[in-house]
Amino acid sequence: MLQQNYDVKMNVSDLLMYFRCPRQVYYLNRGHELMTGITFPYIESLLLKELALAYPDIVSAYSSNDEGMIENLETELCRVCDNIELIRPAELEGVSPELMEDARTAISGCIRDIANNLESAISQHGKEEFTSCIDPVKTDPILYSGRMGLAGMPAKLVCHGGKTVPSIIKTGKYPENGVWNNDRLHVAALTMLVEEEYGKTVEYGFVEYARYGIVRKVIVRANDRRQILKIKNRVGKIKDGTMPDKNESKLCGHCNFFDMCSKCSTKVSLAAKFF
Ligand code: SF4
Repeated sequence: MLQQNYDVKMNVSDLLMYFRCPRQVYYLNRGHELMTGITFPYIESLLLKELALAYPDIVSAYSSNDEGMIENLETELCRVCDNIELIRPAELEGVSPELMEDARTAISGCIRDIANNLESAISQHGKEEFTSCIDPVKTDPILYSGRMGLAGMPAKLVCHGGKTVPSIIKTGKYPENGVWNNDRLHVAALTMLVEEEYGKTVEYGFVEYARYGIVRKVIVRANDRRQILKIKNRVGKIKDGTMPDKNESKLCGHCNFFDMCSKCSTKVSLAAKFF
């Protein structure tokens, strides 16, 4: 196993931030802090991710009794809400009980859908196969690649078909088919890390859409790997001081870099277009 003192210059989270906004990568690497705040979506997302870690046990306990699954999910949600501040004290420091309660109520409203989708995955794939797609052998493992100078942390590693593969948990909507492109690239980056960590080729990973209890397999192709190397190169240049072009989106309305970013709204350099 690789050691932490490898020359790791970048994290998969930098690539995810680049997908959201390349300029946020730039400002963060110049010492500015991105203010996210403890908002309702943020708490909801933390609770959903924690709840999703209970799905393997809930699936294992399933015995053709939908109401039983709903009850188990409700029980787990209560446990998660009681424990979340112990598990993530830094992220939830100062959170108001009202906000926690609102997030719990919202997730409670998703439980019937989660149960239905978990149940249909069990009928489609069989309990044993489906459990092996979601049951972690490790949660939040830190992976390193000395070759790529990259580190990252999948939500889980699962042992599927005798292979260790990464799995990520997302809390937003799921696409009709497959996974969102950014989720595909996220999994691709993690499979490359798993390969180096375990010395075996990894051809796929999983994305869990926790709000719905939907699990999707992602086959990682050569083009996904190519994209990761390209994006890693771009992020490296941003970290070295190249200001990327402004990429206006709905994120700008909540971004604390907005003022300084607006002052640099012109096309920064021709070079930025070509790296
Ligand atoms: S204001 Fe918009 S473009 Fe600028 S850093 Fe923030 S999100 Fe990115």
